[in-house]
Order: sequence, then structure tokens, then C-alpha cells
Amino acid sequence: MKLLKQESAIQSLKDNKYHKLIIGASLKDLESIEFYAYCFTHAGADVIDISAFAHSVIAAKKGIEKALTENPKLNKPEIMLSVNISQDPHFRIVKLDKESCTECEVCIPACPSEAFFLSPEFTYNPDLCFGCSNCLDYCPVDALSFENWNPYNPDELNRLLKMGARSFEIHLSKDFEAFREFYRAVNLENVLIESFSIGSELLSKEELIQAKEIILEEVYQRPGAEERIVIIQTDGIPQSGARIKNQEKDLKAIENAKILIDSFDGEIPNNLFIQIAGGINDESLSKAHRLRVPVNGVAIGSWIRNKIIDLDPDTAKDLSKEILKKSKHQAC
Ligand code: SF4
Ligand code: SF4
Repeated sequence: MKLLKQESAIQSLKDNKYHKLIIGASLKDLESIEFYAYCFTHAGADVIDISAFAHSVIAAKKGIEKALTENPKLNKPEIMLSVNISQDPHFRIVKLDKESCTECEVCIPACPSEAFFLSPEFTYNPDLCFGCSNCLDYCPVDALSFENWNPYNPDELNRLLKMGARSFEIHLSKDFEAFREFYRAVNLENVLIESFSIGSELLSKEELIQAKEIILEEVYQRPGAEERIVIIQTDGIPQSGARIKNQEKDLKAIENAKILIDSFDGEIPNNLFIQIAGGINDESLSKAHRLRVPVNGVAIGSWIRNKIIDLDPDTAKDLSKEILKKSKHQAC
């Protein structure tokens, strides 16, 4: 088991303190990707999750290298590529109908990603959208709506895995056959972490368990399965960490994790770990443990990005570090 001996992420998973920081499955703005990768490396992330594009990998690597140059003692986080095989809320972005838009500017403060701004006229940059849905409620003329990306191509994922991103996450929808077909086409030769995201308000309890069974069936029939880290991410309310409304947005993810863990009946494979996402903040990991849901880690995304987006890189990296330190420290 070469992987289990050498990767620091495995220790974090075993200690139930694994932290994936999400830059965003749909975020394409290179400057933002580099900035977050820089801050999240300084913070001590085990994994950094990005949109699956060549330019995103390059930007993330640049941010990671910059942080490592400043402090060579930092852990080098794994880059994880997020891909969709069907319609999934993580991959949606807002479309602006310019005909209807009155340029009232109401949506500007509603966006945690600063996708709307004055430059000097009202401008929308879709590359900055990560699909949280905040802005939709604010537009008085319904000029904003979602568009979803097309399903991802496994050949493209294979190409990116050769660029040095050794981990991926597949977001399952209800289309389990599409998942099987996609997964079987992925070249796992140099993969360290394979992650599968289920939930996202798309699946019932029965479907969550069915998704898990299909993941296990597919993963453990591939050669070398035991040498890779396998993560099942139970997603609650996607991209809700930065939303203005709703409290306790992490409870749905924790509830889904409990369903999943219980369904194993104590028989979880040694290299398989459970991690929560969706509305996660610096208290969610300790909350899950307090609720006796023994998850191995968390994915924090829009909540942390929202806190650092307006800060200069030095302050942003220090705050990211503080946030992760608190999250890890509070967890048991
Ligand atoms: S508020 Fe959310 S959904 Fe709307 S543009 Fe900004 S990131 Fe996208
Ligand atoms: S809230 Fe709607 S109408 Fe107003 S600027 Fe934004 S998109 Fe245009």
C-alpha cells in the first residue's frame, strides 16, 4: 500500500481532521483560482478542489508553488478535479438576460464572488460565478437564471490527470448508468484520491444508499483499488456556505453522512473515508462529531471564500490559516 504510507492526506483522514478547501467546480477566473490556491496552501489544506480545466490546474499550481516558495515546510495539497456526469448544482452558472436587466445594481452586493460590478458600467463576469443562487432572489425583473454545463468528458479528465492533478471527484446525479460508463473510462493509473459526491438535494435516503453500493461495486473491481484513497462526500445543500439566508446549512450534509455510515453496518473498507460538504463552516466538523456522526473530514468552500475574497493576500492567508486551525482543533 504505497499510497497509504506516504500521503499526508491519509493521516488527516485517519485522524478525522481531513480538510478539503473548495475553489469551485464552476469557477474559471484564473486570478481568483491562484489567489485561493495560495491562501489555502498556507492554511494547510489537504486537498484543493478546482474546476476541471487545464488553465485552472495551471493557476492552482501557480498559487500552491508561490505559497511553498514562501514557506517550504507547508504541506503540498493535492489538486482535485471536480467533474459532473449529468446536471448537478455544483456546475451551474448564472446567465444574465441583458434585454431584461435594468442595471439596477441590486445584485452587486448579493454576490459573494463579486461577479457583478461597476466598471464603470454594470458588468457581469460569468467566470466568477460558482452557482450559489444568492443573486436570483434579489433581481426584481428575473433577468438572472441558471444554465448547467454539459456532462464532462472522461477523455478530458484523463488528459488533466496527466498534468499533475492526481485526484478527482465525480458528482453523481440520479443517472447511475451514466456514472458507471464515465468511471469505467477514467484512467486510474496515477490517481491518488478518487472521490464521489452524493446528495446535493438530488437523492432520497434510498438513492443515497444505492449510490454508495454502485460506487463500491465499480471502485473495488478496478485493479489497485486498495492502493488509492476512496472518499465518499455526502453533500447537503450545495454552495450554501456563503448564502445570506438559512441557518445550520451543514445539518443536511451531516444527516446524509449518518445515513451513509449507518448503511455500512461497521464494515467500511480500510481505504474508504466519509467527508461532508455543503454549507460547511469552521464548526461543522466538531458539530458532526458532537452529533456522533464520525465523519473523516470536511469540505469548506463558499463560506471561507466569502470571508477572504476582499482581503489582501497576506491577511487572507492568515485568516484562512486561523479558520483551518480552529476547525481542526475543535474536532475530536
Ligand atoms: S450570487 Fe452566486 S449564483 Fe449569483 S452570480 Fe454570484 S456566485 Fe453566481
Ligand atoms: S438585479 Fe437584475 S436587473 Fe438589477 S442589475 Fe442585477 S441582473 Fe440587472
